[in-house]
Amino acid sequence: MLLERTVLKKIIIAEHYGFCMGVKRAISKTEETVLHDKRVTILNEIVHNEAIVEKFKRDGVGQAKSIEEIDGGTVIIPAHGVSPEILQKARECGLKVVDATCPLVIRIHKIIMRLAENGYRILHFGDKAHDETIGIVGHAPNRVTVIGNLDAIRGLSPIEGKLALTSQTTARVADFVEIEREVKIKFPQIEVFNTICNATNQRQAAIMDLAPRVNLMLVVGSQTSANSKRLAQIARAICGRGYLINSARDILPEWFHVGDKDIETVGISAGASTPDFLIASAIERLKEIAGGGVEVVYPRKQNNQNSLFLKDYQI
Ligand code: SF4
Repeated sequence: MLLERTVLKKIIIAEHYGFCMGVKRAISKTEETVLHDKRVTILNEIVHNEAIVEKFKRDGVGQAKSIEEIDGGTVIIPAHGVSPEILQKARECGLKVVDATCPLVIRIHKIIMRLAENGYRILHFGDKAHDETIGIVGHAPNRVTVIGNLDAIRGLSPIEGKLALTSQTTARVADFVEIEREVKIKFPQIEVFNTICNATNQRQAAIMDLAPRVNLMLVVGSQTSANSKRLAQIARAICGRGYLINSARDILPEWFHVGDKDIETVGISAGASTPDFLIASAIERLKEIAGGGVEVVYPRKQNNQNSLFLKDYQI
């Protein structure tokens, strides 16, 4: 639908957006495995993006919520990782295990285990219900306490002895800074390990740079993607108008005409598990809404060459 008074003139793409190293690696490992193994099941979601999850379902790859549901063959451990208990259970059940855990999540597993072995208690800043957090806690279940916000720290009883702070890879950097400040006041002995990954840092910094320069921000990503939701929150907080969209279909023409404050410039970013073609189709939709004559400003360095998946996915 073309709106008569739409004044959209420019679309600016964030310097860093879309697929990260861990997601690309998990998808490649799954694609390779499917070529060689007949019965393949992904435990949970390979990455938190609907288009990718659906693509593997269409290819005949099984999806399971637990090891008990898998009836033989190969199990793929997703990018977010799992606890050692789950890995052991998979092997005991005779499953061939392909571990697609992101190396940066494995790094946290190693940090947690080393700290636990050395007598530390660990406060882990993250979302209790997120797959990555569940896997991390499972590496030292009696030593890790998950804290989701500042109130959780205030509610903690005094802790004597060695103590460490770690973070979910996709936490909001500004939130982690606040958490760090608060824990240091309450537990001066705490040692801090900033385990937010580089991809998260880059995408959040890029959106903070872009959001003040546009009238509206779109973040392409699934509702299940923690890092996409975080990017949308940051965009909204800075720019005032920020939407998390699953695909181009979610873009509403009325967003681009809000009375006397028409939207001339739109910024686009995407979560670390969002394939390029979804971003490309969002740009096309914006051009359609504007009715032509829109300038698209791409990042100086094209950092996301993942469109090789384009042919296999449906929007
Ligand atoms: S967001 Fe970070 S930790 Fe998660 S898969 Fe990507 S690179 Fe790895």
